[in-house]
Amino acid sequence: MNNLKNLRFNCLRCGNCCTDKNTLVNLTYFDILRIKNGLDLDINEVLDILGFFIFKEKINHEDRKRMVIAPIETEKGLAYIALLKNSLGGCYFYNSEKKKCLIYDLRPMFCRTFPFSFETLDEIKEETNSLINIFYTEKGKEYCPGISNEAPLIEIDYWIERGKKTLNELKKNQSLIKKWNERVKNGEIYPTAKKFLSMVFELIEY
Ligand code: SF4
Ligand code: SF4
Repeated sequence: MNNLKNLRFNCLRCGNCCTDKNTLVNLTYFDILRIKNGLDLDINEVLDILGFFIFKEKINHEDRKRMVIAPIETEKGLAYIALLKNSLGGCYFYNSEKKKCLIYDLRPMFCRTFPFSFETLDEIKEETNSLINIFYTEKGKEYCPGISNEAPLIEIDYWIERGKKTLNELKKNQSLIKKWNERVKNGEIYPTAKKFLSMVFELIEY
């Protein structure tokens, strides 16, 4: 188990996490609603900024269990919902001239938590007196220069609170996707992207 008191990070605003071609910014329904409400978009406008990225290969049960955000069933196959890419393979909302995010205050959870990920522990971690573990993501270790021995130690209390919120949102998101996927399998819904978004927009809880 890693020692949270040794985690170091300082964002250098290099833009690597916004421009990496192989990174998809997966969205929870909280992210979708935040962007929709913040930019005052209708359903077609939301569809214009989202990608439903279809899995080309079959994924097994073990693969699914490892996914932080589960894919949804669509009429074209299993799909990840993520922000659209720009023509260079970076995030649609990244302004490379100004090196800034165009929706910073509305940015998805993935962006708010990068380069960290969280897990719930079975026992309280003594050093922080909490049930949350925090660790660097593989992508973070791969290309985030903000992780370095020169960077300051992270504020643990802040990141634990963020971790709790994140895990809570992920849990609710998984539950919604599970229900959607079950309804599709039972033949209750014809699973278009538009229909999925309509369901999300009807959610009262936000
Ligand atoms: S890759 Fe790391 S340092 Fe660069 S912008 Fe993203 S979080 Fe900041
Ligand atoms: S939403 Fe903003 S912070 Fe997130 S990847 Fe896109 S440009 Fe970067």
